[in-house]
Amino acid sequence: MEEQASSLSAREVESTDLLSAAGRVLADPVLADRNLPPFPRSTRDGYAVRSEDVARTPATLEVIGEIKAGENPDKIPARIGSGQSASIMTGAPVPDGANAVVMVEYTSQNGSRVEISRTVTPGENIVPRGAEARNGAVLVEKGERLNDAAIALAASAGRATLPVYKRPRVAVLTTGDEIVPIDSTPGPTQIRNSNSYSLAVQIRHAGGEPVLLGIAPDEPTQLRSMIQQGLKADLLLMTGGVSMGRYDLVEQVLAELKAEFIFTGAKIQPGRPVVFGRCAASSKPRTYFFGLPGNPVSTMVTFELFARPMLEALAGMSPRKLRFVYAKLKSEIKVKPGLKRFLPAILSGEFENSQVELVPWQGSGDIAATARANCYIVIPPDREVFATGEFVPILMR
Ligand code: AMP
Ligand code: MG
Repeated sequence: MEEQASSLSAREVESTDLLSAAGRVLADPVLADRNLPPFPRSTRDGYAVRSEDVARTPATLEVIGEIKAGENPDKIPARIGSGQSASIMTGAPVPDGANAVVMVEYTSQNGSRVEISRTVTPGENIVPRGAEARNGAVLVEKGERLNDAAIALAASAGRATLPVYKRPRVAVLTTGDEIVPIDSTPGPTQIRNSNSYSLAVQIRHAGGEPVLLGIAPDEPTQLRSMIQQGLKADLLLMTGGVSMGRYDLVEQVLAELKAEFIFTGAKIQPGRPVVFGRCAASSKPRTYFFGLPGNPVSTMVTFELFARPMLEALAGMSPRKLRFVYAKLKSEIKVKPGLKRFLPAILSGEFENSQVELVPWQGSGDIAATARANCYIVIPPDREVFATGEFVPILMR
């Protein structure tokens, strides 16, 4: 499926300056333009020595020079001979002949001599030339989403600009007669449209460009024309109207448009009625779409589980699995079995003491509880009780 998605998207490339490339998807690999490190690099302040000279301690060596980081190559001793050493700083090049650096803490210099009180193994405190990357090696793969480390690597290779894929355009269509725009005053039974906005944020985080199409009524003619509008984008996300209610018309209208359904429904809560498929659009052979359930937390969860991987594929990212980390339960959980659940929760605590607990909530319409949460606890469908202290998977948000 990812293959097909890739071939369908236009995948245009644009050039962007290094900092603006953060969060974008790299369109061509970044190669090392020199060895990393370019010279054998000392990782400590201390003395560059021949390890065999300090095999018995204390040992006294002659100090034949001082090498600071960025030292003029002319001033670096050509060779450290037997019985010799050079004072050296972190990040400085280790001269020929030396094969280890003794940390300054285990030395005491007196004039041109230094006493060494600790032995070192060959290679200790030195990163050999090219050990991190060889000249010409791939530093950042094509298809990688550029994070801090990738940007640092590109910077180290002298790349002030990078080629990245254009962001896919993701149409967002929300449905429901009760839904009104955020700048209108809702009547007593009306609800402001929040889903378009949570989705827009999730789309941006996932590397897409949201295009908000507004609100479609629960009426087939207008719904159809708005869906057709949305199918012109690289991906169409709809919210609401996919449940079993009499006015849930999204699937029906898609079927009339000869959509191909890849799945209708998932054994999860929230998000059970989620729909995924593809449909021919006026300008291209087909566009993938998701019908996400309208309950705001269902919309958020189903985006993370299903729409995000699709969007990442369209964005040119190399496929990756969703990431679930484990955390220790702060208090017992009891649930009804049957569905895999994603329940809003708070992960807190530091280092090895981190713990996770459920946020009390009113179900999948409760955005306020979800806003207090920073993750979802993932509950398998076949168990009812989870004890305090048990490790459970969580989905970060
Ligand atoms: P539906 O999936 O259409 O049955 O809607 C389920 C619930 O989500 C209903 O309570 C809707 O009012 C609510 N809902 C649907 N769309 C939105 C939206 N765009 N913003 C906020 N709530 C919504
Ligand atoms: Mg509805």
